[in-house]
Amino acid sequence: MTIALDLSLAPRAAAPAKAALVGLTRPEIATALAATGLPEREARMRAGQLWNWIYHHGVTDFERMTNIQKGVRAELAEKFQLDRPEIVSEQVSSDGTRKWLFRFHDPKNPRLPPVEVETVYIPESDRGTLCVSSQVGCSLTCSFCHTGTQRLVRNLAAGEILGQILMARERLGDFPGGVRPDDGGLVPAPRGSGGSEGDSRAITNVVMMGMGEPLYNYDNVKQALLIASDEAGISLSKRRITLSTSGVVPYIEPTGREIGVMLAISLHAVRNELRDMLVPINKKYPLEELLAACRAYPGLSNARRITFEYVMLKDINDSDADARELVRLLKNIPAKINLIPFNPWPGTNYDCSSSERIERFADIVNRAGYASPVRTPRGRDILAACGQLRSETERLRKSEREALIA
Ligand code: SAH
Ligand code: SF4
Repeated sequence: MTIALDLSLAPRAAAPAKAALVGLTRPEIATALAATGLPEREARMRAGQLWNWIYHHGVTDFERMTNIQKGVRAELAEKFQLDRPEIVSEQVSSDGTRKWLFRFHDPKNPRLPPVEVETVYIPESDRGTLCVSSQVGCSLTCSFCHTGTQRLVRNLAAGEILGQILMARERLGDFPGGVRPDDGGLVPAPRGSGGSEGDSRAITNVVMMGMGEPLYNYDNVKQALLIASDEAGISLSKRRITLSTSGVVPYIEPTGREIGVMLAISLHAVRNELRDMLVPINKKYPLEELLAACRAYPGLSNARRITFEYVMLKDINDSDADARELVRLLKNIPAKINLIPFNPWPGTNYDCSSSERIERFADIVNRAGYASPVRTPRGRDILAACGQLRSETERLRKSEREALIA
């Protein structure tokens, strides 16, 4: 189902020249305010107020910031903006999964064509997970992944990563006073059904598992996730944020130490020869190096396990021997194994393993003592399942970019 949108929620093409505040740290907001002439102490105080309005209340209009004097609000509105992405489309799957196509204008170069990414919301009985994109396209070319067929257009800024979370919270009625959608999409634990405020959120978990490789956009992903987990704002627990990587080894340790979120590894193969073909970054960082980095992941414990994702590809990586080797490789790593039935997309040559094969594989892994839930494909009817995301944004040639900026 594609929903008719109330486009009043979507900001128009960005008005040039106003500085974006979403995505800045508190000290960066204070510095931006001080640069407009505000005394330093007041700038720090206003930064705290703005933070609360932007991330806790979800406000996009300075006029609604009632604890800031009218004159100051007008000045802020003149110099700064709180834009979120435009919603190009919003689709709801028959299973309640919701997919948005978001459009971002480049605030620094408004003449550049906008870029688009997909963001997916997956409601379950006890949680609601938002799958967020980190890049437009991907520079890696995993052969079974739809995103991998789209070239990297550009990294998303921290504010654009957060913009996906803020816009999804808005649409799902997750800000104080918000209204839940009434279009059939399932949202867990509706407001007022009891429990603490945290329990009644539509978005309880965030996974960096949308388009792109988050560790190839490390600084922006780090800034966005530190803001999303800040207690005075969106306030998501770091244990409910998972970053998935195809295996960018040098950034694995910093992810644990500096961001402190849960880690997922797109493993998909247990022999270098096959992984080189499925996940080509393996040629740069082979299995031994990847697993050594996992063993050394800061904060790793039985309570904070690494999730290993393993896509089930018929006759490629789904034999009993593969399952046994998987168990052997992960020995002594606190791990969960997530078996993902392959989700087909237009033009792929792969098939999904049969359900009997997946069960047999899961059985071997389970018997070795690993929880290995088979991930039920969600939102396949709207191409929202793992690895099906892609946007039509194309990368411009250098000469085309230069012509537009000139
Ligand atoms: N680039 C990061 C984040 C994307 S996460 C990464 O690769 O980890 C998306 C997950 O879905 C990854 O584990 C990816 O390997 C997996 N995936 C990709 N294409 C898929 C497909 N067609 N079917 C099932 N899973 C797929
Ligand atoms: Fe990029 Fe991840 Fe897809 Fe590989 S699986 S192409 S790293 S998005």
